[in-house]
Amino acid sequence: MNYISTRGFADKTNFSGTVLTGLASDGGLFMPSRIPVFSEANLRAFSRMNCADVAFCVLRAFAPEIATRAIRKMIQEVYNPRVFTNAIDGNNSAVMPIRELSKDRYLLEISNGPTLSFKDVALQLLGLLFEYVLCGKSLNILGATSGDTGSAAIHGVLGRKGIKIFMLHPLGRTSPLQAAQMCSVISDQVFNIAIHGTFDDGQAVVKSIFGDAEFKQKYNLGAVNSINWARVAAQVVYYIYASTHVVKDVRRDFVDVAIGAGNFGNTISCIIAKRMGAPIRYITAATNSNDMLHRVTQTGIYRPSKEVIVTASPSMDIQGASNFERYVHLLTNGDSERVRTLYDNLKHEGEYDISDLLQTMRDEGFSSERVSEGECFQTMQDVYKSDDYMLDPHTSVGVCAANRKREDGVPILIPVTAQPCKFDIDVEKNLGVKAPRPASLVGIEDLPQKYIEVDPDPQKVKEIIEMNA
Ligand SMILES: *Cc1c(COP(=O)(O)O)cnc(C)c1O
Repeated sequence: MNYISTRGFADKTNFSGTVLTGLASDGGLFMPSRIPVFSEANLRAFSRMNCADVAFCVLRAFAPEIATRAIRKMIQEVYNPRVFTNAIDGNNSAVMPIRELSKDRYLLEISNGPTLSFKDVALQLLGLLFEYVLCGKSLNILGATSGDTGSAAIHGVLGRKGIKIFMLHPLGRTSPLQAAQMCSVISDQVFNIAIHGTFDDGQAVVKSIFGDAEFKQKYNLGAVNSINWARVAAQVVYYIYASTHVVKDVRRDFVDVAIGAGNFGNTISCIIAKRMGAPIRYITAATNSNDMLHRVTQTGIYRPSKEVIVTASPSMDIQGASNFERYVHLLTNGDSERVRTLYDNLKHEGEYDISDLLQTMRDEGFSSERVSEGECFQTMQDVYKSDDYMLDPHTSVGVCAANRKREDGVPILIPVTAQPCKFDIDVEKNLGVKAPRPASLVGIEDLPQKYIEVDPDPQKVKEIIEMNA
């Protein structure tokens, strides 16, 4: 299978190439040249498989050049109850449990990995993929995080041979637990870089460094942000697995999905799962007060605002949603010239216009909702009362959108994007009780932390890489 850049100028590559390259050389993101579609018989079979077996089938479709035995081995290592165990009650009967709430709402519990956000699933796999594809060569991973990708990526590559990781996070804008999960990892593989700025500033630095082809080549830079296709591929699994299982269990033809969105990686994975045949009808991306994604689906104008509003769901405090470019590529039927023009406009004028594509979006069932802080908190309280279930603020944004969109008798899936204890201050403020923490994280904020503090300046970050790679 070939992968092409959304902007059309980069050389095409295979799955392993996308793993190592991250961002394409023309600034675009990799997409499969053709999205594989599963047959009805495949989908029926998936509804009876565990998620490791579904993951195997999905990844084999995306990475035909990787030996079947190698994929099988990686999958067994990742989609494994030893890695994904409910941290609180120790239940490890299913790696991705689906929990039914009242009113046809189904939570997909994908945050039971080592760092308690959904990002663990993809990043545990990515760590193994890097090691496999590198075959003993060395790699320096460079990424920016709003909190969860960083810790999940660090734990995904820790102990993997030949890999170092340089991770930018916005100083003081992550939760204290998130910062501790990154910065308390003291290892000569790991370089935490705390920048004076926002996630978007960090992402801009990373993109700029990846844009320097010579530097990138010299230090063999790799990406772990959701610009990396392998992460999207790994996340497609959630939606194929969960939709086929729920559809079978409740004997319906389809499910709806609502997703708390930031960089749009989780949402694009769901859209791709749908295009691969997963029985999904409507997909709703839910934003917090940082509502750029919602504005683009309302007006067709993609215009990141300059200001990022600090909310209780910091992993969604994002204005420029990188993976939306993949959706534009799909919506234009792979018109890379159009994508290139749009992203040139974004660069020079700060916005682009896709109002002609809004109807296509609606036709395929995609829409968005904006959820205020008050609504997010109210939803946390409501679900705690009605279902005795603690939501973290990010998941709550998704559930709030699901409440607006749901129809009686139609199951709606919402991914649990983080465990409530990651954001325990807001959980306790709203629910009046402390979110339980797994033993491994008790007191982690008190451990010594190591990080380098700098301004969001590509040159400064390059110097750190030069010194430590
Ligand atoms: C990363 C993250 C999100 C946003 O996901 P995207 O794939 O970036 O849209 C939402 N909630 C939590 C807890 C996250 O860590």
